[in-house]
Amino acid sequence: MSSNPLWEVRRGLLVAVAAPSGAGKTTLCVRMTERFKNLRYAISCTTRPPREGEVDGEHYHFVSQTRFKEMVDQGAFLEWAVVHGNFYGTPHAEVKAMRDQGGDVLLDLDVQGVASIRRLERVDGVFCLILPPSQEALRQRLVTRGKDTEDEIERRMTIAVKEIAQVDLFDYVIVNDDLDDATRQLESIIRAEHTRRERLRKDWFRTTFFP
Ligand code: ADP
Ligand code: 5GP
Repeated sequence: MSSNPLWEVRRGLLVAVAAPSGAGKTTLCVRMTERFKNLRYAISCTTRPPREGEVDGEHYHFVSQTRFKEMVDQGAFLEWAVVHGNFYGTPHAEVKAMRDQGGDVLLDLDVQGVASIRRLERVDGVFCLILPPSQEALRQRLVTRGKDTEDEIERRMTIAVKEIAQVDLFDYVIVNDDLDDATRQLESIIRAEHTRRERLRKDWFRTTFFP
């Protein structure tokens, strides 16, 4: 198999990761992109203003509400949602182009995004939920991260409980207690999913073994 690039052998994988805010999703996703050179973020569109250091086209495509609504009407999004008062959406074309070239696509979504992708039967993906080991640990991480006010932390905790209640939407649940253990678990899931028979390219299989 070493003579075949992976993309000839299998279709790109779609890995959707969601978590209550503060559970460690960003930390784990960054580790995955470092471990899997073929895995890249699909860049979402958002109507929220860029934060300091964020680059248009790299962290997000930053668009106006008018443009976002136009894109919704054109059916440009695989899914979209309102999160913390702003619109976020995953562009369909971007995900398709990455997967067609054999790339693995990482979607950083909120739980609503996972719910709407789950409703689309044609989407073949792996859905992972990252959980904190306890509610207290989650609160502590939000405090340590230092980005949110006390009120904002309480608001995020209330949302977190509602998100966690939707556990049945997911294929895999990772409890991020020890970060290295959680990293190994997500890495193992991705490695195993790569080898699923459904992702084998039939044309490669046929021409290689039944020419
Ligand atoms: P999310 O993207 O889910 O909001 P982050 O990745 O930003 O969460 O993590 C929230 C905070 O918790 C960060 O300060 C991060 O360094 C810390 N953190 C992540 N994983 C762990 C862990 N297993 N143990 C302790 N702290 C963690
Ligand atoms: P932030 O504004 O902090 O970058 O992201 C806020 C939340 O929006 C996070 O939970 C993130 O996962 C989610 N998010 C980012 N992009 C998308 C997207 O394209 N679709 C959905 N549904 N959620 C997104």
